[in-house]
Amino acid sequence: MSSVPPVDAAERRAVEPVVVYAVDRVPAYDRDLYEKAREASTKIEEVIVPPREARTFEVAAGCFFRIVSIEGPQVGDLNLWNAHDLSERFFSGKTRALHATHVSTGDRLWSTLPSLRPLATITRDTLDWYGFDADGAGVHDVIGTRCDPYTQLLLGGTEYHHCCHSNLTRALAGARGMTLSEAERHVHDVMNVFMCTGYTRDTHRYFMKASPVRPGDFIEFFAEIDLLGALSACPGGDCSSTHSSDTAHCYPLKVEIWRPREGDLAGWRSPNRSRYSGRHSDK
Ligand SMILES: [Zn+2]
Repeated sequence: MSSVPPVDAAERRAVEPVVVYAVDRVPAYDRDLYEKAREASTKIEEVIVPPREARTFEVAAGCFFRIVSIEGPQVGDLNLWNAHDLSERFFSGKTRALHATHVSTGDRLWSTLPSLRPLATITRDTLDWYGFDADGAGVHDVIGTRCDPYTQLLLGGTEYHHCCHSNLTRALAGARGMTLSEAERHVHDVMNVFMCTGYTRDTHRYFMKASPVRPGDFIEFFAEIDLLGALSACPGGDCSSTHSSDTAHCYPLKVEIWRPREGDLAGWRSPNRSRYSGRHSDK
């Protein structure tokens, strides 16, 4: 049973919302700089991520990486780490708070505390036309977590070993010579690349719908620091109906690494870690 609303309930609800963070205070997105850097860049590596699997890739600071749809609509779950210190990793919650529930060109992917700096900047997005649809859904969310075998067991009662969480764990373990349990501790909330999601209008529950991505679509990132990435081709495929099983049609994804021409990044500097003193006290 709900509580009885106070007499001034309407008044309390009618106060103006305030955007929580003044994101216009972070260094502005310098479109010209990234466009110029891309112009004469060269593709130096390609990684194919098989369906229901994950692969890692390394991107040096100052290079671009693209995640490309190749054979059919497919969602990708992306993890990012500082290549030299895995404790600094993508901070989905703060990225959402600073930018929005869904990210696109000009948005940054921020790292965890105590570093809090851009790991990567989104520099192209062929799905930026989508915006928010009539259901309130958008593409490339930072609100989901990743499909995982624990939630699958909780809700479905069965074990499934190719959820994104497990795929990312196996890929990281293979890349860094870790045991699965060592690697699992580093796997974190993802950026859901190409995934189309939102919150229901009435109860604000997380929903997904078929991704609008088609072969040839891509999203491009600029590595602001040396990065280790891992991408899982989600067992949900285009995430139009189900995940955490072998039911959905799944396709591979491609990761391309592009290196700008020498000198085309004049004026760019890799961002420093946060300069907060770390005292946490006035004493
Ligand atoms: Zn998944």
